[in-house]
Amino acid sequence: MTLTDPAISTTTGAVLDGPALWSAQAHMPSVLGRQLVIERGEGSYLTTADGQRLFDGTAGLWHANIGHSHPELARAAHEQMLRLETYHVFGRYANDQALELGERLAALAPMERAKVILNSGGSDAIDVACKLARRHWQREGRGSKQIILSREHAYHGLHAYGTSIAGLDFNREGYGTESLVPETARVSADDIAQVEQTIARLGADSIAAIVAEPIQGTGGVNPPADGYLEGLQRLAREHDILLILDEVITGFGRTGEMFAAQRYGIEPDMVTFAKGVTSGYAPLGGVLVAHRLWEPFYVDSPDTPVFRHGATYAGHATAAAVALANLDVLERDGLVPRVRELEQVLRAQLDGLQQRQEAVVDVRVAGFLGGVSLDERLVNERVADRAVELGFITRPLRGNTLQLSPPFIVSDQEVVNYVAAIEQAIAEESQR
Ligand code: PMP
Repeated sequence: MTLTDPAISTTTGAVLDGPALWSAQAHMPSVLGRQLVIERGEGSYLTTADGQRLFDGTAGLWHANIGHSHPELARAAHEQMLRLETYHVFGRYANDQALELGERLAALAPMERAKVILNSGGSDAIDVACKLARRHWQREGRGSKQIILSREHAYHGLHAYGTSIAGLDFNREGYGTESLVPETARVSADDIAQVEQTIARLGADSIAAIVAEPIQGTGGVNPPADGYLEGLQRLAREHDILLILDEVITGFGRTGEMFAAQRYGIEPDMVTFAKGVTSGYAPLGGVLVAHRLWEPFYVDSPDTPVFRHGATYAGHATAAAVALANLDVLERDGLVPRVRELEQVLRAQLDGLQQRQEAVVDVRVAGFLGGVSLDERLVNERVADRAVELGFITRPLRGNTLQLSPPFIVSDQEVVNYVAAIEQAIAEESQR
C-alpha cells in the first residue's frame, strides 16, 4: 500500500493549505481538493457532500459491520447519555454498562473464563496487550522475556507499540533508529519453520509474546497459510511465549465465527478487539485475557500486584451501551451465520473475476473479507478511484491489492453488483 497517489503530481514545491483537519495516513498535497466528504450513511450506502451515492464496499475501515445509521444503536447512545454519559472504571468505581459488556464479551471469548479490559480502540488494545505480556513475565520473575514478535506485513495500529511492531516498514520508519519501543522483532508471515528459526536465534528466554492477525488485513487480506496459526500456537506453548491474536478486523463475525480463533481452532492467551464490537458507532476496543494471565492479579493478598494501566474512557458507559445494542443486532439478525453464506457468494464472484480478467493475478477470500491482487500494469489506487466514480468504494492495500469487505447486511445481488463494478474499473484501467 502506498499512501501517495501517483495520479496526482505536485511539483511546484509551494506549501499548500486547506481545511484545518489534518487527515490520517495521508499525503496531504494529494488529498487537498479531492476529499470525499461523507455526510450521510444508510445501511450499506453513503452520501457525499456533493450528493454522490456510494456503496460502502469496505464497511469504512472494516468497521461498519451492521451498516450505517442503525436506529437501535442511535437510541442506545441517546438513552444512555440521558441517564449517565459515563463514569470511569478506576479503582473501586465502575458503571453498569461496562460491567454488563464485560460479562457479554467474556461469554463470547475464544478462551475459558476470560477477563475483559476495555479502552477506546484497536491501537489502545495493542498497547495494553503488549504491556500486559511484559508485565506477566516480570511478575513471574522472568523479566528477560521482553521481545514482542509480530509478522511481516502486519498492521496493529499506530500507537507506540503498534508502530514498533508494524510489519509494514513505512509505518515504522521515521520515529527513531528502528522503532519507538525497543525489543521487538518480525517473523515470517507464512513459514512456520522460519518462525521457529527466528525464535531459536533470539532465544525464547528473551521473547514475551507473539502478536498475529489471524487474517492479515491492511497487509493485503492474507488468510493464514495451512497450519500456520496452529504452528504459532505450538511454538508459543513449547517456548513459553504468549500468543496474542489481533482480532480488531476479524472479531465479531467477519470470518463467520464470532472470533477467527474459533474458525481456526486456536486458543490464544489474549485477543485484541475494536471496530466490530460497536460496528464503529462508538470508539471502543479492548483485550480479552485468559485466566492464567489474570489470576495472579486477583490473588487475595497484600502482595498481589496491580496492572498499572487505565484511561479516562476505559469502559465508557455510552460506548458500552452501544456495543451491547450492536451485539443484540448481530445475534438477533443472524448476521454471523449470514457471513458464512456471503463468503460463498464473494468467493464465486471473485473466482469468476480472476478467470475473466488477465490483470487479476490472485484473489483471496476468508469470511466476508476479499483481496484482489493486480499485476504490475495496473495501479490499485487508480482502479479504486475509478470504482468510486462508478459508485463503489474499495481500498488499495499492500501488494497492489484491493480490499472488499462490505457490511454483513448486504444481499447476494449487492455482492454481485459490487464485484461487477470492480471488474469494470479493472477492465477500463487495463485498456488505458
Ligand atoms: N489492529 C488491526 C489488525 C487493525 O486492522 C487496526 C485498524 N485497522 C488496528 C489494530 C488499530 O485499530 P484502531 O485504528 O482502532 O486504533
